[in-house]
Amino acid sequence: MVLDYTAHDSEVAIERVRCLVIGSGAAGLWTALHAADGGPVLVITKATVTESSTNYAQGGIAISTPPEDSPELHARDTLAAGAGLCDEPAVAVLTREGPRRVAELMDYGAQFDQIDGQLLCRREAAHTRSRIIHAMGDATGAEVQRALTEAVRKHPGITVWEFTQALRLLVVDGEVVGADAVRTATGERVRIVADVTVLATGGVGALYKVTTNPLVANGDGMALALRAGATLEDMEFVQFHPTALACDETPAPLLTEAIRGEGAILLNTRGERFLGRYHPMAELAPRDVVSRAEFLEMERLGAEWCLLDLRPIPREQMVANFPHVLQMLSERGLDAFAQAIPVRPAAHFVMGGIATDLDGWTGLRRLYAAGECACTGVHGANRLASNSLLEGLVFGYRAARAARGEPPLAEDLLAAVGKLEPAAVPAVAPAVAEQVRQLMWKRVGIVRDAEGLQAAAEELGNLRRQASRSPWPSCEEAETANMVDIAYVIARAALARQESRGAQYRTDFPETRDQWRCHLRVRRSPDGDLEFSGRPVALLEPSLGE
Ligand SMILES: Cc1cc2nc3c(=O)[nH]c(=O)nc-3n(C[C@H](O)[C@H](O)[C@H](O)COP(=O)(O)OP(=O)(O)OC[C@H]3O[C@@H](n4cnc5c(N)ncnc54)[C@H](O)[C@@H]3O)c2cc1C
Repeated sequence: MVLDYTAHDSEVAIERVRCLVIGSGAAGLWTALHAADGGPVLVITKATVTESSTNYAQGGIAISTPPEDSPELHARDTLAAGAGLCDEPAVAVLTREGPRRVAELMDYGAQFDQIDGQLLCRREAAHTRSRIIHAMGDATGAEVQRALTEAVRKHPGITVWEFTQALRLLVVDGEVVGADAVRTATGERVRIVADVTVLATGGVGALYKVTTNPLVANGDGMALALRAGATLEDMEFVQFHPTALACDETPAPLLTEAIRGEGAILLNTRGERFLGRYHPMAELAPRDVVSRAEFLEMERLGAEWCLLDLRPIPREQMVANFPHVLQMLSERGLDAFAQAIPVRPAAHFVMGGIATDLDGWTGLRRLYAAGECACTGVHGANRLASNSLLEGLVFGYRAARAARGEPPLAEDLLAAVGKLEPAAVPAVAPAVAEQVRQLMWKRVGIVRDAEGLQAAAEELGNLRRQASRSPWPSCEEAETANMVDIAYVIARAALARQESRGAQYRTDFPETRDQWRCHLRVRRSPDGDLEFSGRPVALLEPSLGE
């Protein structure tokens, strides 16, 4: 059928593709590569193709290698970190399918550090085995991004549009039929009509004043999905990385956790080791415990940072394994061999996201999500280190496989999308972004309580209500509105969960409570506010944790 767009705004270009992937990190590019067998794929991405959290990842990818390790042991560590909220079927998929996906990634050209043909594995916090493979010592994400970008560029069935921001999903009769986007370099408006759409827009670190994430990680995909009628889940669980360099940069440069795995120690500003007072595993405790301990220690001493002392690691080992961290420090005039390095926690990863099944399906017809923007329940209340690049590969593959099976748009849908008026989306002045970041850091951060969360929810609710609406707001206004919406969801979810668990710590509910062993789901209510519901944790029989 020839598309009839006569009723459509002539200033909006039309692009017809089989599959639209929004986002060009590990999840987006991997999904594109595997979806391309089903027909032409268009990847759109907000900045350059390489500007993603993926590109900044340092430590590595967790996969089990026999005989010392197994998917079951990897699963057990994942469950332990997840504090009772991991969905066991998702964990089983991640840990069983992970090694195969990584082997395929290597077939696509990713090179991981090896000796004599054996992948080098190291240990990270909360892992009971050395199972983290890595590239160039501490530049794993850059290598993954490089390999996938090259593979996608070479693929005849995949087109990448950089500097193209998705503004809204197109929904006709409950089916998602693509997205409206703006090519930010030229201002061109494009309606992308797709048989299937995959959101791979990453996380929410940019909602916080201090973050390791690039600014593109501001929750766009989650906001678009929520508005289209999808469900978000586990949004209260935001992970703070304990060792970002204490500085004014965004993103804050990271000192990978692998450094503590190899012997670095954390000190307070008095030069005292303190983690032993908070957890028996001290430096190797789960990252939420370490971040919280740092926060409390900083509060106790009125300090702005803690200190990471890398000098217990032999110099040659440091140079061989962490060359990029050393270079990053030296570029800032810091010498890790001569001084302890000032570090502090930073918003790093969101366990929650767009609720999907194990094939990335969001519950809205033709809409899938993969990677950090999605929530399969695999991370529970706290992600195990180095499980998230793996998540993008495993669930991106599954989403692509399912996407290939989606039928082409029926003729009546095609006709309808041509005539669809662009729905107005919220717009908020870009200056508000800084207000949101400060507020989230102060009130919805590492340590929370009802008073602070309530105040944050009210302030964000007001900002939401004051948002103007426009069919084509500026990209910055749309981004800021998305930040406000998702910050509001996080604050409300954190307020609703009256317990401490994993990454959520509330001083007014310091205990983990059995009645809260469930996922918190959120949807848009008919009046435009939010409605919450619970979902039981999915378990296997026998349990993976046994
Ligand atoms: C500093 C750092 C270190 C890390 N280290 C590790 C590690 O060692 N191991 C590990 O497993 N994980 C690590 N992580 C986490 C991991 O990197 C991320 O969770 C993962 O890379 C997310 O991949 P993704 O493809 O889902 O999203 P991203 O890689 O963040 O990609 C999201 C993409 O979506 C695009 N996008 C967003 N909104 C829009 C829009 N509206 N329109 C168009 N495009 C849009 C962005 O431009 C970007 O291309 C680290 C993260 C950081 C920040």
